[in-house]
Amino acid sequence: MSFTNEKDNVEISSNINYRNKKHYKTAKYPIRQPKFFTWLIWVLSKMMLRNKEKKIEKINMEGLKPPYMLLGNHMAFVDFEMLSLATYPQRMNNVVNIDGFYRRPWLLEWIGSIATRKYSQDLHLIKSIKKVLNRGDVLTMYPEARYSPIGTTGVFPDSLANLIKKNKVPVVVACHHGHHLFSPVWDHKKKRKVPFYTTLTQVLTAEQIEEMSVDKINEIIRKALEYDDYKYQKDNGILIKEPYRAEGLHKVLYQCPNCMTEFKMSSKGSEIFCEECGKRWTWREDGYLEALEGKTEFDHIPDWYEWERSQVRKEIEEGKYAFDDEVDLYGQPHCWKYRSIGKGRLTHNLEEGFVITGEHRGQKFRKQWTPLETIAIYVEYDLERVKKADSIALSTSNDTIYCFPNQQPAVSKLCLAAEEMYKINYEKTKKYKNKKITDK
Ligand SMILES: [Zn+2]
Repeated sequence: MSFTNEKDNVEISSNINYRNKKHYKTAKYPIRQPKFFTWLIWVLSKMMLRNKEKKIEKINMEGLKPPYMLLGNHMAFVDFEMLSLATYPQRMNNVVNIDGFYRRPWLLEWIGSIATRKYSQDLHLIKSIKKVLNRGDVLTMYPEARYSPIGTTGVFPDSLANLIKKNKVPVVVACHHGHHLFSPVWDHKKKRKVPFYTTLTQVLTAEQIEEMSVDKINEIIRKALEYDDYKYQKDNGILIKEPYRAEGLHKVLYQCPNCMTEFKMSSKGSEIFCEECGKRWTWREDGYLEALEGKTEFDHIPDWYEWERSQVRKEIEEGKYAFDDEVDLYGQPHCWKYRSIGKGRLTHNLEEGFVITGEHRGQKFRKQWTPLETIAIYVEYDLERVKKADSIALSTSNDTIYCFPNQQPAVSKLCLAAEEMYKINYEKTKKYKNKKITDK
């Protein structure tokens, strides 16, 4: 199959030729959460969390009644359960990604969830949010839009502050701690025993929002959503004793800081190691990382991840970064099934961003996401319901495409590269806009 000169070929479509042309319609208003479901979710959450050590602290929340916007950090499914305990008996409408609707869209619709597709342009979402707040309920959003890969704050757009400014209702930030360590996204099936601590803080009143600039709102939200689960562990002297605690960690710590080789890292038990140079590190029960021999490059796990980010950034800036690989493609136009689209090609570079090309049922397609359209990307480590391998997902307003690269461990690097490319382009646009203003 040739993918050359595709832009000149009129027969290439930006849509995939699915047999079933129906797409799940996200552009619809959520129902008001029935009181019965608010209660039921609370009961189920209590049951799920019954044996867990947990603490919820409310700050500046006295007398606060809905409507308000609730912004939470996102690390694991347990985030939803903790928020149900924290907000009961108030009705909540959650903004949920379409994959949460998999095989049960009716259920998610009944409990008043608002479906969206991660990182896509969704104008109806803004209308749905307004509707929920006008009805006097709690609107819950997870601005990072995916589980944190390394237990620290992820990226989210500045436009969140515009949304807050527009709605003029108080903003509460829920900051969870311990959920990433309990169920890290790269090994979420095996749980670790970790106490949970959640703070609910009213960070902005309606009056403050009225007076404040968008930049100031942004600053306050970003500050309130700062977290680091590994620091939480150390500061509170939490010991994680599960012998398998490091298993899966190599999926995010993919580059060896000793020999610099990428994608040759592996993990077993409480150790992570490089198959190229043989260096090993143990993840101690107290949360520190320690080299078995020689220098410990990073004793704080998120520092290793941020170092990888700086390596990727350097590659991009020096013009050396480019990804090109064959991928297995699956689409999720609706909630019932992941549709196999067959083999295709995924490329990623600073000029074009992400491009997926392929052919399905006799129709060639090409889909593109520019760097400014991918502030972050969604990663699934072992999306078992489709294929036991790692993938990235790219969304448009009516479809989500899962790409499983042949070069398997590459997905975390693709994430970091997308985030850095967004930043580079965003800074450029901002400078350009500012220049235009000063020139006038
Ligand atoms: Zn190495």
